[in-house]
Amino acid sequence: MPSLNDIRSTYLDYFRRNGHTVVDSSPLVPRNDPTLMFTNSGMVQFKNCFTGVEKRDYVRATTAQKCVRAGGKHNDLDNVGYTARHHTFFEMLGNFSFGDYFKSEAIPFAWELLTKDFDIPKERLLVTVYHTDDEAANIWKKVAGLSDDRIIRIPTNDNFWMMGPTGPCGPCTEIFFDHGDKIWGGPPGSAEEDGDRFIEIWNLVFMQYEQFEDGSKRELDMQSIDTGMGLERIGALLQGKHDNYDTDLMRALIEASANVTNGDPDGPGKVHHRVIADHLRSTSFLIADGVMPSNEGRGYVLRRIMRRAMRHAHMLGAQDPVMYRLVPALVRQMGGHYPELTRAQALIEETLKLEETRFRTTLDRGLRLLDDELARLPEGGDLPGAAAFKLYDTYGFPLDLTQDALREKGRAVDVAGFDVAMEEQRAKARASWAGSGEARDAAIWFELAEAHGTTEFLGYDTETAEGQI
Ligand code: ATP
Ligand code: MG
Ligand code: MG
Ligand code: MG
Repeated sequence: MPSLNDIRSTYLDYFRRNGHTVVDSSPLVPRNDPTLMFTNSGMVQFKNCFTGVEKRDYVRATTAQKCVRAGGKHNDLDNVGYTARHHTFFEMLGNFSFGDYFKSEAIPFAWELLTKDFDIPKERLLVTVYHTDDEAANIWKKVAGLSDDRIIRIPTNDNFWMMGPTGPCGPCTEIFFDHGDKIWGGPPGSAEEDGDRFIEIWNLVFMQYEQFEDGSKRELDMQSIDTGMGLERIGALLQGKHDNYDTDLMRALIEASANVTNGDPDGPGKVHHRVIADHLRSTSFLIADGVMPSNEGRGYVLRRIMRRAMRHAHMLGAQDPVMYRLVPALVRQMGGHYPELTRAQALIEETLKLEETRFRTTLDRGLRLLDDELARLPEGGDLPGAAAFKLYDTYGFPLDLTQDALREKGRAVDVAGFDVAMEEQRAKARASWAGSGEARDAAIWFELAEAHGTTEFLGYDTETAEGQI
């Protein structure tokens, strides 16, 4: 059975054989893009190649890209532990053409890799195309011999990608694997598409048009390809599993989590172990790429992820910091392909240990306060915003940590009330800063925070290059 490390190599070798240059993953903090919080797809490092602004000495590239989707428009944080297919950190395998090949080669490349090299039975695969993209539908028919009901036409933006409000855009085609009728879910475009039976494994974007400010489009002279496939998703299916968390790599981390907490990886603490395994990866890779926990911007997203994981460890009965003790298992699994992880091992361990030591001093008391508040609430009632704010302000509980804790109990936070409490505090802070040198910076900070409509400033979250990949 191929390991995730094997599958990554097979993918990169396949595209190398087909004329692609293997390019390293770029860091999680985008180098030239302050508008994007974290690298969230393979195309990020190539944005300027697609627009033609940058020329490189290759026109075909392939990567395994580190991605984090835990902030900004792509935020899978709340899915972690609950769906079979989402992580906050994952690796996106991709192949790219910069004005070189287009649909008629990109589709056969993908189909051949899946059905020949990976030997996936064709009957289990189906695809979507953008509803007007007859060209892609016809190629699928010809190359894969898929029947019409397995080439699903989707009219929504799920199958139309845009780099931003203007610039390159175009239809995409997504490849799904059917895990069988024992699992709930329906094909893409159906009412049950959110289930986990049909899992999207690969997205192929055809950059075909350029969009202008007035909304009009014209065909691009330089048409390009951008694809992304989640390593953990293709890994699960090649290992005969349904769930990403049952792949060899994730399983090793889940077992490490169970070991340090003397727990059973598949027992009642199962969700906690999954969340811990996932958050261990995102936090460690972020630290390795230079992000440090702080109270704003990227650092605050990191802190939120770390603290969420630490609460889950606490729920498993951990009496001492545990996250840092899992780092060696992660380095064993991933340090071979990502040497930056190995280089940063000591820094990651120290950062996690310090943060968990500190957070544990308020975590216990915060959770007790939360329990007391809940006990006073009418059945099914929301936690008052003022209590959530106190947890945030006094005990260092990010709002989403409190929400995560309540979710297990089927409760929610009165977010509007939380926002009111936050606004009151800001108003006080503004008043006390008036006249000081900090006032202008603070004003800018608040303006940004308010423009983003979030209760805490997530920073640089104006990304528009979202969509599929
Ligand atoms: P989904 O609809 O399942 O959330 P997506 O459409 O948001 O996926 P894309 O933006 O198209 O995903 O990303 C390309 C590929 O990356 C997906 O086909 C999938 O294999 C993988 N992927 C996306 N998000 C995640 C995630 N949070 N965890 C693991 N793999 C992911
Ligand atoms: Mg998604
Ligand atoms: Mg999707
Ligand atoms: Mg997609």
